[in-house]
Amino acid sequence: NADAGMYMAKRQGRNNYRFYVHSANAASAARLNMENKLRQALEFEEFEVWYQPRFDIRKGIVVGAEALVRWRSPEFSLVPPAQFIPLAEDTGLIIPIGEWVLRTACQENQRWQRAGEPPLHVSVNLSARQFIQEDLLITIEQIVSDLNMDPHRLELELTESLIMPNAEDTLETLKALKRLGMQLSVDDFGTGYSSLSYLKRFPIDTLKIDQSFIRDLNHDSDDSTLVTAIIAMAQKLRLTVVAEGVETREQLSLLSRYECDYAQGYLCGKPMPATEFRQFLEKPLNLKSLMEDVR
Ligand code: C2E
Ligand code: MG
Ligand code: MG
Ligand code: MG
Repeated sequence: NADAGMYMAKRQGRNNYRFYVHSANAASAARLNMENKLRQALEFEEFEVWYQPRFDIRKGIVVGAEALVRWRSPEFSLVPPAQFIPLAEDTGLIIPIGEWVLRTACQENQRWQRAGEPPLHVSVNLSARQFIQEDLLITIEQIVSDLNMDPHRLELELTESLIMPNAEDTLETLKALKRLGMQLSVDDFGTGYSSLSYLKRFPIDTLKIDQSFIRDLNHDSDDSTLVTAIIAMAQKLRLTVVAEGVETREQLSLLSRYECDYAQGYLCGKPMPATEFRQFLEKPLNLKSLMEDVR
């Protein structure tokens, strides 16, 4: 995975010899090479969408899933998004990849419904590059109407950094997405250094509290202060709250006490391939029993 490593080292400004000392030429050759591999990956359909369940903490049931892309490369095996999404964004390949993820995730959601599952949403991550693309609305509307899908079942995850730069245009796009019937959530909430005023003006439905606030929730009183404050604020603003990165029973119990609406994390289910997720839906885990005996 040398090319990917080299590319990432460069992009993160770590030209500091951790991976390689090399010329600008070698770096751009590596980048071009990776870019070609990503193009081929799209052509040869090497991407997969995995699904991670979101649970309603009060009811203890699965309410939906987040779609997370993976690249099953014959050369590098299973590549996580952190290792190719940045390059896909830089090269614009995120547009066709993102569209493929959207379509695949919506198709999968339709399968769940046809299998007689209770209503479930699927949430899809959007990159800034996709978001500013003129065709975005048309693309999404097309996918949903092709599949005859209830648009309410599609949630789009946006980050604060994506929302902020061009606030007026963003507002129009978000309003248009709401008119189409989609749900909107703010991903990695709390990490974006942005003003909170957008929460008042933008038609957001859900805040996803970043996993960095959840990790030490039971040991760090600053984290629990922040998490309870976010939940209180969200309730007043009529937003729902998802805690990301829930890994322990202790975290889940505390979040339940704080009246957090939803949980996502390894404790409740790791991201899994589509077939595995369908099996998971048949035999979901008992969230209530997970919280028993925890003080
Ligand atoms: P994200 O949207 O914040 O997704 C959550 C990430 O946290 C996922 O990593 C997930 O596997 C991981 N995670 C879930 N539960 C836990 C937990 O309990 N503990 C820990 N340590 N991690 C947990 P993943 O799948 O590697 O994705 C990383 C990021 O890549 C995503 O962060 C998202 O920003 C981006 N991404 C993934 N799929 C797509 C996509 O289709 N399009 C775009 N534009 N970005 C994507
Ligand atoms: Mg996300
Ligand atoms: Mg996140
Ligand atoms: Mg993220």
